[in-house]
Amino acid sequence: MIQKIAEDIYSRQQEMLDLLRRLVLIQSGSHNKEGLDRMAETMAQELAGTGLESEVLSFAHCGNMVLARTPRAREQKGMLLVGHMDTVFAADTSFDWYHEDETYAYGPGVLDMKGGLVVAVFALKALAEYGLLQDLAVTVFCNSDEEVGSPYSRELIEELSGKSKMALVLEGGGLEGEVVVGRKGKIGLQVQVWGQGGHAGNFSGSHKPSAVLEAAHKVVSLEGLNCPPQLQVNVGRFQGGTMANCIPEKALLDVDIRFQDEDGAKFVQDSIERILKKPEVPGTSCTWEVSSSRPPMPEGGRGEVLYSLAREAAGELGIPLGREGRGGVSDANFIAAAGLAVLDGLGPVGDFDHSPGEYILKKSLPQRCALTAACILKGLHQDK
Ligand SMILES: [Zn+2]
Repeated sequence: MIQKIAEDIYSRQQEMLDLLRRLVLIQSGSHNKEGLDRMAETMAQELAGTGLESEVLSFAHCGNMVLARTPRAREQKGMLLVGHMDTVFAADTSFDWYHEDETYAYGPGVLDMKGGLVVAVFALKALAEYGLLQDLAVTVFCNSDEEVGSPYSRELIEELSGKSKMALVLEGGGLEGEVVVGRKGKIGLQVQVWGQGGHAGNFSGSHKPSAVLEAAHKVVSLEGLNCPPQLQVNVGRFQGGTMANCIPEKALLDVDIRFQDEDGAKFVQDSIERILKKPEVPGTSCTWEVSSSRPPMPEGGRGEVLYSLAREAAGELGIPLGREGRGGVSDANFIAAAGLAVLDGLGPVGDFDHSPGEYILKKSLPQRCALTAACILKGLHQDK
């Protein structure tokens, strides 16, 4: 059966590319509500076209989102498919075109992750055409705020995870056909360092309460935590002071921290407290807030079941499949932390996402689509 479905899918590569072109040409940076609302309309229609009950969820402060499901999914726990509609490219970007050559397709979001949305639509279409979808409990959720940490969709993703048995996330795949079996956890920190202002020429003590000086100590201490690949700390932005002749009153640090597992999370929290609570420069102080966070999705967890199924399916389909852990985060982090078996990276393979060089390998679009359809079937059948 999987072979037959795959043949059908392979014959529809052009249709997939046509949908990809349409989606990519809707500019949908995370803050572009108008574009995201159009994406939501389009995806809701496409998913309804596969026979799912599909609805647009309205949001006032971010782009609308889409929830679609088979009637079965109302009654029982099943497969959750998750993909995001937003990209990192702002509304005024010059990277606003779509282009194909014989082998590749290029454009904002082809890989991250409008290609994955196309994979989901056509996998479900194929299952529907073979009369299989109606008997399966499948839920699809497309959010509009993943690239900014999923602040508005996180709760919904966690809720849907609680109502599902397993999940597939359609972020782009690796160049050798890798799917993603683990992701690091992440904490984003905003640190404010406070000093005491004054004329630089009038200063006469042994400890000048400079916020910039204290912040510099913090940078060295925070960067000193680095221990890749287990722990990566990056002070990505350092701002402070006003004029050369003023003792700086205030400095700001933006920090990105990635860790592998719960032990790493604990170590990070303890270390941050230790470093930020204790001033090196007398007369200064520090406050901080967590601007974003995602729990880790450790390798070797519940998702291994789905990876085994994907391997089996890839073998039957004769397509390449590898596995990888990634430093970057996705909504799979929330799903894994909710205790669900999750496999990520089922979108088409490509590279250079988050840059104007973003591309996918065209033939991987139908391949990943067949793989996804097979994973849905195997996942839910094995479960019976
Ligand atoms: Zn993404």
